[in-house]
Amino acid sequence: MDDVIIIGGSFAGLAAALQLGRARRKVTVLDTGLPRNRFGHHSHGVLGHDHKPPQDILAAARQQLARYPAIKLVNARADSISGVIDDFSVLTGAGETLKARRIILSYGVADQIPHVPGFAESWGTSIVPCPYCDGFEVADQHWGVVWFGPQSHQSVRLFRDWTDKLTVFADGHDIAPDIQADLAHRNIPVVDGRIVEIAHHKGHISTVNLDTHRHIAVDILFAQPRNKPSASLHESLGLATVETPVGIALKVDERRQTSMPGIYAAGDLATPFLPSVTQSSWQGAMAGIFAQHSMLA
Ligand SMILES: Cc1cc2nc3c(=O)[nH]c(=O)nc-3n(C[C@H](O)[C@H](O)[C@H](O)COP(=O)(O)OP(=O)(O)OC[C@H]3O[C@@H](n4cnc5c(N)ncnc54)[C@H](O)[C@@H]3O)c2cc1C
Repeated sequence: MDDVIIIGGSFAGLAAALQLGRARRKVTVLDTGLPRNRFGHHSHGVLGHDHKPPQDILAAARQQLARYPAIKLVNARADSISGVIDDFSVLTGAGETLKARRIILSYGVADQIPHVPGFAESWGTSIVPCPYCDGFEVADQHWGVVWFGPQSHQSVRLFRDWTDKLTVFADGHDIAPDIQADLAHRNIPVVDGRIVEIAHHKGHISTVNLDTHRHIAVDILFAQPRNKPSASLHESLGLATVETPVGIALKVDERRQTSMPGIYAAGDLATPFLPSVTQSSWQGAMAGIFAQHSMLA
């Protein structure tokens, strides 16, 4: 039996494994190799790894974990979890049953890319979700912002730190009159209509095409598609969740334990606000440490 099975071996899961492996706890990490930022060419804002391809950061982490004999990295999907604290079973996609005293869920979230031609092809290249991740490289250029609710007002105010050339795409949303007035006061145009196509060349956007037959040129488009957890294991377990503006996140306490004793969560799956590689790594490390603390004799 393992001490801990970690489901999802990306930034959060590997950070948890690192702490547990250094504490000489027996760990298996199950991973299907699809980190959320795999569409991005470089990862930014990660101390010591700024502007590196995300897969390179993960490959280096996996290589470093090879030092620790108690850590086993397995390329497999977790299909179900059963049992209770000190006696959990995880069934893998290969039909193997693994047992552990604790579980850490770090299987991330999947962005629900809209069915708009050109959107998926441009995602991560010229359509991006986060200014901290991709804003610096396109500072002072013309940014489009896809409105997704009242939170977008704060985003637009934030984006002014990177550029004065902003265009808001209402994309079918009714923007409240007081917000419209504020945007007008800031000289930020609002374009009505739904986005029906992203015209691009190899993922580099040329125009945002609307159902009003307007074609608006921008250099980069910031969008926050809804997301959902990459697996449904938490649903089968009935774990508590919290609402976020773009989906749900698992509810955890200050020790990163979910609503079920012995099951911990880290990374985007349990981050209601500003998900990032740094947050995921920090949360993963803490989940690993607190899982270890909970097993002391
Ligand atoms: C386009 C884009 C660009 C980004 N750029 C940046 C950036 O520059 N800087 C930054 O800090 N953040 C960036 N992010 C955010 C960053 O990608 C996430 O915060 C980070 O990947 C979350 O790490 P995680 O470990 O929680 O989940 P993920 O990295 O998403 O990893 C989850 C892992 O779990 C695996 N998995 C899923 N289901 C199962 C299962 N059932 N069994 C086993 N394994 C499973 C997946 O294959 C995956 O490997 C970006 C996001 C996007 C979408």
